[in-house]
This record gives sequence, C-alpha cells and structure tokens, in this order.
Amino acid sequence: MSWLEEGWRHVWLPYAQMATAPLPLPVSRTEGARIILEDGRELIDGIASWWTACHGYNHPHIRAAVAGQLEAMPHVMFGGLAHEPAYRLATRLAALMPGDLNRVFFTDSGSVAVEVAVKIAVQSRLNQGERGRHRILAFSGGYHGDTLGTMAICDPEEGMHSLFAGLLPEQPVIPLPRDAASIAAFESFMEREHASLAAIIVEPLVQGAGGMVFHPPEVLRRLRAAADHYGLTLIFDEIFTGFGRTGSLFALAQAGVAPDIVTLSKALTGGTSPLAATIASDRLFAAFLSASPATALMHGPTFMANPLGCAAANASLDLFEREPRLEQVAAISAQMAQELEPCRGLPGVRDVRVLGAIGVVQLAEIKDPPGLRQKLIAEGVWVRPFRDILYLTPAFTITPAELSRLTGAIRRVLSA
Ligand SMILES: *Cc1c(COP(=O)(O)O)cnc(C)c1O
Repeated sequence: MSWLEEGWRHVWLPYAQMATAPLPLPVSRTEGARIILEDGRELIDGIASWWTACHGYNHPHIRAAVAGQLEAMPHVMFGGLAHEPAYRLATRLAALMPGDLNRVFFTDSGSVAVEVAVKIAVQSRLNQGERGRHRILAFSGGYHGDTLGTMAICDPEEGMHSLFAGLLPEQPVIPLPRDAASIAAFESFMEREHASLAAIIVEPLVQGAGGMVFHPPEVLRRLRAAADHYGLTLIFDEIFTGFGRTGSLFALAQAGVAPDIVTLSKALTGGTSPLAATIASDRLFAAFLSASPATALMHGPTFMANPLGCAAANASLDLFEREPRLEQVAAISAQMAQELEPCRGLPGVRDVRVLGAIGVVQLAEIKDPPGLRQKLIAEGVWVRPFRDILYLTPAFTITPAELSRLTGAIRRVLSA
C-alpha cells in the first residue's frame, strides 16, 4: 500500500510519540459496529470512533440526509445567510434542553464549543459592567479539550499546565466535591475565591478522557446550589455524555438540574462529521443584547453550522425519536455489567464499573499498551488501552453477539 508508506512520512498522529508509534491499521470501510481493514479483516469497534458513532457507522438514514444536503448545498457562510438544517437543528436542540437553555451557537469541534461557553460566561458579566470575574473553576480529572483555553481547565497533569506555564491562563482546578473532605475543601474555596470566578465547568456524571470516572448526581446538585448561591454560571460539558451515553438522553436529566450552558459535540452528528454546539440560557443571551456592537459575542468559525453536519445531526435526532436507542443503551448496560463482572477476579484488575453504555475495567497499571492493543486486534476487536483502563463505549445498535465478542476479548486478554 504505497499511500500508507508515503503518507506515513508526512502525517502527524494524535497524542502519539511518533518515534515509536506503530504503523496504523489501514481501513477501507466501516459498517454498523464494524471496521473493515484493507486486508479484508473486520474489527468490532468497541469505542465507536472516539464515542461518536452512536447509531453505528454508515446508518442509511444519516447517509441519505447528508447525500441530499450535498446535492443542494455542501456549505454556505452563516453570517447574514440562513439555512434550514441549522435553524431546524437549533430549534430541536433547544426543545430537548431543560429550563431556559434556548440559544444555540454552532462551532466545529468540542474544544471550540467549550471556548465559546467560557467566553459567554466571562463576557456576559463584562457586558453588565461587572469586572474582575474571569476565572473558571474546573475539577481534577476533568477534560474539556485541547485548545489553549480549554487546556487550562483540564486536569493540570493532562493539560500539561506546568509545561505550558506562562502561556496558559491560570485557572483553579480542585477535586470534585464528592465526599466530606472534598466538600469541605470546595466550600472553603468558594468562600475565599468566588469574587474572581465567572463559572464552574464539569463533565456531568462521567469524566471521560480522565479515565471514565463516575460521580453521583448529588455532586451536580451541589454545584448547582453553589453556583446559585454565588451567582456563577454553571457549564455542563456534555460533549461525551450527551446523546444517550450515560443512559438518559443527556446526563443532566439524571441530576434533575439545569446548568446555564451545555456543550455538545462527539455524537451530535452520529459520528458523521465535525459539528459542535454551545447552548446558553435566555438569561445569559440577554446579557449580550444592547444598542452597542461592543456587547456582541465575538466569535464565528468559518465553517460555523456547516449544512452537511447539521443535516447529519437532524437525521441523528430523527433516529433517537424513531428507534429505541435508550432501551438499547439499557440492554447494553445490563449485558456489559454481566459480562465484564468476571474480570473483577483477574490479576491486576482494580475495578469494574458500568454506567449506561460505558463499560470500564480498571487495572493497577497497563504495562505494555501496544502489546495489549495487538492482542485485542488479534481477537478481532478495536479497543484502545487508555491510561489504566480498558473500556467499551460501543454503538447503541451493536448486536448482543458483537458485544459479547468485545467483552470476551477483554476477559481473554486479561486472563492470558
Ligand atoms: C472530546 C471532548 C472535548 C473536546 O472535543 P474535540 O471535538 O476533540 O475538540 C471536550 N470535552 C469533552 C468532555 C470531551 O469528551
């Protein structure tokens, strides 16, 4: 395959030490929960392409919607021009959100959606004449993106705060208030620092990229209460948890609280193309309204609200309406709980946990990630060892037999 060897001298891979990175597997097609390799081998995808392909790959309804949109108009600028896919999508997303989360700003990646959320939180105060509140409280183990602004609100180690000190804005990152000690620390932090804060940001129920760490809904209610008490903007980053992954359409439903801003991406287009949304409350939106252009939200990506992405997202929402996705998530959840449970007794296994369509086997450590990855590929599955975990976040349309192949592969590689 000459394109692979030639291109390998020119591509730069994500999160990879290029000196030692193994040659990636060439893929020719995808279908349902399967990745078909150039050499004809099929892998069952355990992670739905970084948590995006929630309806499986190549869903005919999404494909038809995108093909139709491609005929009519692949893209048109969003400033001064309107198109139905984006306006319909904004209306539908607002209808799915609780409270007065009614205003949708489209971008093209999750990180940028978070950047926009932070800008909204900070500028809404400046617009109202409130100065000096520009810090964002974030939590240890959290992940909100790779751009500079979002790195500063990631876990300090992962966000490489010390490496980039001086470049990154300094943001406070403290443990989630989930037990007596961390609640006390959170409360005293808030009392001390609230006057410099604009917002609190959290991934509701699951810190995904931080290692699939779960927390109970009470934590989110505690954050809502603190944000209300101190007048702060509460941001729920649902980029990973949104669209059914935790068992409800959005994780916020399980806490029964509405944040002031929600960010969405990953499964928004059913894994079809890049698109993200920042959804703000009517109250925050109102803080940008005035007779002066100076209070406008100053952001606007070139490919904002790309019609192909919006068409895919509308089609994905159709599928959540027409097909029993949340029942499928519940069935996946039960099957993973049963089939991953036996891993608990295996050497080196620290924890087994399942929430919605997220199954996690946590180890003391993963000594040889490439070696483990190789064994998993030999089992016919695409599962990426990550930090100290092996995890499954499959498509909701995966068959029980395919899911058993995934859980069986994990059990076998950990027993060997
Ligand atoms: C993936 C992710 C992001 C970043 O999204 P990108 O599209 O990769 O920029 C932000 N927040 C959370 C919770 C994520 O899982």
